[in-house]
Amino acid sequence: MATSPSEHAERTEHADDPAGYDLAVIGAGPAGLAGAVAAADHGLRCALLDAGARPGGQYYRHPAPALGAARPDRLHHQWSVFTGLADRLAAHVAAGRIVRLAHHHVWAAEAGAEWRLHAAVGADSAGSAVIRARAVLLATGAYERQLPFPGWTLPGVVTAGGAQAMLKSGLVLPGRRVVVAGSGPLLLAAAASLTAAGAAVPAVVEAGDYLGYARRPGVLAAVPGKLVEGAVHGAALARHGVRLRRSSAVVQAHGTDRVTGVTVARLDARWRPLPGTERRIDCDALAVGHGLVPQIELATELGAATRPVPDGTVALRVDGHQRTSVPGLWAAGETCGVGGAELAIAEGESAALAIAGATPPRALLSRRRRLRAFAELMAAAHRPGPDWTSWLHPDTEVCRCEEVPVSAVREAVDELGAGDPRTVKLLTRAGMGWCQGRMCGPAVACLSGGGAQGADSRPLSCPVLLGELAAGTSEN
Ligand SMILES: Cc1cc2nc3c(=O)[nH]c(=O)nc-3n(C[C@H](O)[C@H](O)[C@H](O)COP(=O)(O)OP(=O)(O)OC[C@H]3O[C@@H](n4cnc5c(N)ncnc54)[C@H](O)[C@@H]3O)c2cc1C
Repeated sequence: MATSPSEHAERTEHADDPAGYDLAVIGAGPAGLAGAVAAADHGLRCALLDAGARPGGQYYRHPAPALGAARPDRLHHQWSVFTGLADRLAAHVAAGRIVRLAHHHVWAAEAGAEWRLHAAVGADSAGSAVIRARAVLLATGAYERQLPFPGWTLPGVVTAGGAQAMLKSGLVLPGRRVVVAGSGPLLLAAAASLTAAGAAVPAVVEAGDYLGYARRPGVLAAVPGKLVEGAVHGAALARHGVRLRRSSAVVQAHGTDRVTGVTVARLDARWRPLPGTERRIDCDALAVGHGLVPQIELATELGAATRPVPDGTVALRVDGHQRTSVPGLWAAGETCGVGGAELAIAEGESAALAIAGATPPRALLSRRRRLRAFAELMAAAHRPGPDWTSWLHPDTEVCRCEEVPVSAVREAVDELGAGDPRTVKLLTRAGMGWCQGRMCGPAVACLSGGGAQGADSRPLSCPVLLGELAAGTSEN
């Protein structure tokens, strides 16, 4: 039976707890939710913080109760996994073992025997709080990687995850005829959701060739659930007559006030468009994304060790207990490399058990190992080819906050000698806007000679009022 999200823990309590918590979990997505309830099961008193209003994170996004969605489960796989976790959370909240702190956006973490997390509080971030805890589990997930192309700033062009979010939390479609493009498994999920909600999807345009998955058949065979998930999406798309174009990319979006169509071209192995293969597809929306970038600033600012992921991003390095290199800091889910909700839950549980001093069951460790191996295979299969930049025009905007075109970045690199994203930023302002390089970071990194990894380091994980910064500093 579908459970209304409003029946689940919606209570937010005041953050100040003079005694401090045993564990503060940052992020109430699958990883953080699983971590908090498992830790509370083992007797730890936890604070579960999230920047958003409701638990669930990106995967289990669901409509606000006010929208009155009768069947929030219809846009989700494994909704019962979420309702199971949410029911356990509600029981722990009622018993005072977990304090759920919604609308708490942590902008800095101070390490020590007692951790201090600084959070902007409220839907408008006008309030503030400091949360004290003896250990921290970082489960802040990921954000989407955007690779620009001519026309990508037109109204009607949204991210693939953004289209999912519009649908899952707002119950709205980005358009009636939506091309889905980019690279990664999120494209199939987004296309399946869009068609299920009544949109026409003329094509799913995947820049990779999927052959990478076949390189390690043993890894694939060990995660039959993933194969089933792929087959379910594939069957849904076939039923709706959706065409899957592999080794292809949207190299231009057309329109003046809004996108009216896209040009799709076939790509070579380095993602260079093959001349003569261009064809136009009419649409009124484009959902495009090139995978996800782990959101790890809070940890890297503390000096936590990282590792390169085969998709060209950077994730936190953790040991077999999900421990980072910073004492007292654990990490789970997409912060350790993008791998999906099931892996995030397994890692959240493993971290919680380690923090509580309990021995994780062998089945849990084995599941986590198999899913992590699959995540690495998936990451390699969707790594952007090095020549994707050849579909850019000189006037294509790279940084949309500061309106910096490709030509300015190329001038900084070729004529002024900038050899890294930070110097490009200082010379062009690319990455200095409101999003602090989350959108343009991967593109600027590629254009300045690096790989497609995320943006350079950010001392604060979100914009903060100067008053908050001053108050936080004066407390020390
Ligand atoms: C836009 C988007 C859409 C996605 N849609 C799908 C989908 O439809 N299907 C699918 O299989 N996978 C989807 N994914 C992938 C999905 O994120 C993961 O598989 C899964 O949700 C990972 O769980 P997680 O707990 O690691 O992270 P998340 O689910 O991302 O949860 C992280 C949580 O941390 C919170 N947070 C982040 N930073 C802070 C901070 N500084 N302070 C406080 N809270 C913070 C966020 O609000 C969020 O609730 C999507 C990813 C993104 C980015």
